[in-house]
Amino acid sequence: MRTIGLLGGMSWESTALYYRLANELVRDRLGGLASASLLVRSLDFRVVRECQLQDRWDDAAALLAAEARGLESAGAELVLLCTNYMHRTAPAIEAALSVPFLHIADPVTAAAPGPTVGLLGAAGTVRAEFYRERLEAAGLRVLVPPEDDVDRVDAAIFDELCRGVLSDATRADLRAVVRRLAGRGADAVALCCTELELLLDPGDSPVPLLPSARLHVTAAVDAALAPRPAVV
Ligand code: GLU
Repeated sequence: MRTIGLLGGMSWESTALYYRLANELVRDRLGGLASASLLVRSLDFRVVRECQLQDRWDDAAALLAAEARGLESAGAELVLLCTNYMHRTAPAIEAALSVPFLHIADPVTAAAPGPTVGLLGAAGTVRAEFYRERLEAAGLRVLVPPEDDVDRVDAAIFDELCRGVLSDATRADLRAVVRRLAGRGADAVALCCTELELLLDPGDSPVPLLPSARLHVTAAVDAALAPRPAVV
């Protein structure tokens, strides 16, 4: 089994989910006392959030590239960045690594049941092009919520979910956002913020939800358990 490096803390609420899911998936596949081989680097989210709010993307990219490199030096054989929004810095991270970097949008794309997906996430993920373009390049048509829904979801993420607050009122609000996307023709709604699946589950939506953290970590466990090529 390969060692997976988790670059997380953005927020730690969802990194904890990655940690639990990776271990559960390995246990389910290998049985007995098997658990995942993991290295977790959990950053102080305040520092990252300041970079976002001050538009200091070069600083964020330098920080995350150095931390990803640290995971590789410590023994990670593949690296995950446990947040969608910070994949804006993915090119710098990939350039810093010589081990594989699994981009979170790829397993989300692969799980889409039809050509049209609704995109939910931090405002910076939904409004910027870096994420949508990756989904579109894979052949998907992306539906973005109206501005007030984008703000509503962003507030739920940063004011509540990243602080460990799970509220029934917010769940009801987000359900309505999801329903509006389904009503516009989304075949599925992609939860492209790793905290959204802490609050929403399949029963909250009339169409399939694509939970980015679960899909990401599942792809990583698949890669970690894949047979190594024979050495000749
Ligand atoms: N975890 C969130 C995401 O998947 C947002 C937190 C962040 O800004 O990184 O995008």
